[in-house]
Amino acid sequence: MTVPADCLRCGVCCFSTLDTYVRVTGDDWTRLGAEAERVAHFIGHRAFMRMQDGHCAALQVRRCTDGAPELFCTIYDRRPQTCRDLARGSPECEGELLRKAGGIVT
Ligand code: SF4
Ligand code: SF4
Repeated sequence: MTVPADCLRCGVCCFSTLDTYVRVTGDDWTRLGAEAERVAHFIGHRAFMRMQDGHCAALQVRRCTDGAPELFCTIYDRRPQTCRDLARGSPECEGELLRKAGGIVT
């Protein structure tokens, strides 16, 4: 398995069918600021990123000049700590790629 050289050409770790995929802590919610209600919500007493169409609601796809899809986080500077901790090439990243091969939007 090869780890992509650029997360923008991957986005695999932003995909899930679980509503409770990305936990949003109190600090995360504060960091999200005005974006919080758009991209996150409460399920019971805990907050999570909203999920839609099988991926995090903050993920968007755009076409590069070469026509290839680029998957980018619309709240990158404010993303939850869980996302900050998942470094490209880490065991967690490799686990995501192994589990979800084929989840990339093409
Ligand atoms: S951290 Fe890994 S799984 Fe996530 S977008 Fe980057 S290369 Fe893909
Ligand atoms: S907040 Fe950004 S980095 Fe985290 S799962 Fe959503 S789109 Fe991906």
